[in-house]
Amino acid sequence: MQDDFVRLKAVQELDDELRTLTGRAEELPGRITRLRDEAERARKDLAETEAALVERRKEYKLAELDLKTSDEKVAQYSVQLYSAKTNEQYKAFLKEIETQKKQKSKVEDRMIVLLEETEALEKKRRAAEKNAAKFASENEHKVSLLEAEQAELANAIAERRAHREEILQALPAAILKLYTRVLNRMGGIAIVATTGERCNGCFNPIPPQRMVEIDRKDKVYTCEACGRILLPGK
Ligand SMILES: [Zn+2]
Repeated sequence: MQDDFVRLKAVQELDDELRTLTGRAEELPGRITRLRDEAERARKDLAETEAALVERRKEYKLAELDLKTSDEKVAQYSVQLYSAKTNEQYKAFLKEIETQKKQKSKVEDRMIVLLEETEALEKKRRAAEKNAAKFASENEHKVSLLEAEQAELANAIAERRAHREEILQALPAAILKLYTRVLNRMGGIAIVATTGERCNGCFNPIPPQRMVEIDRKDKVYTCEACGRILLPGK
C-alpha cells in the first residue's frame, strides 16, 4: 500500500509537469504564426511601396510625353498663327495655344506632386526595406528557436507520458481504474494533495476524521466534493 502511495505521488507530479509542458506547447503555434505574420506584413508593406513607386514613375513618364505633345502643338499653332487667313482663324489658333499652355501648366503641377510623392515613397521604401530584412532574419531565427523548443517539449511530454504509464501499470487494477475514471472526468487533475485540511483540487474542506484516515495511508480516499484522489499533504 505504501508503495502505491509513492506511485500515486509520482503520477501526481508527472501530471503536474505534463500540464505545464502541454500548456507551453500549446502556446507555441500561435507565437510562431504571429512572428511569421509580422514578417509577412513587412514584406507586403515593402512590395506595396515598391509598386506605388513604379506607378508614380510611370505616371511621370507619361506626363513628360504630354508636355512634349503640348510643346509640339504650341509650336505648330504658333507657326500656323502667321498663316491665318482671317481674324477668326487667328483667334482660333491663339485659343488653341492658350489651351495647350494651360494643359501644360496643369501637367507640370502634377509632375511636381509626383516628384514629391516619389521622394516620400523612396524614403518609405528605405525604411520598409530595413524593416522587411530585420523581420525576415530576426523572426525566422525566433521561429527556429521556437520550433526547436517545440521538438524538445514533444520529447519531454512523450517521456513523461511513458513514465506515467509505467507507474500506472504497477498500480493495483482497482486504483488504476479509479485514477483513469477521475482523470477523464476532472480533465487532467486526478490526484491532489490536501492543504490545510482542504482538497487541493476543489478547495472544499475535508472532515477531521477523514484527514486522519488519509494520513494513515492504508487506503485510497477520494474527495467527497470533487471525487479526486487525495494524498496526504506535505
Ligand atoms: Zn475536491
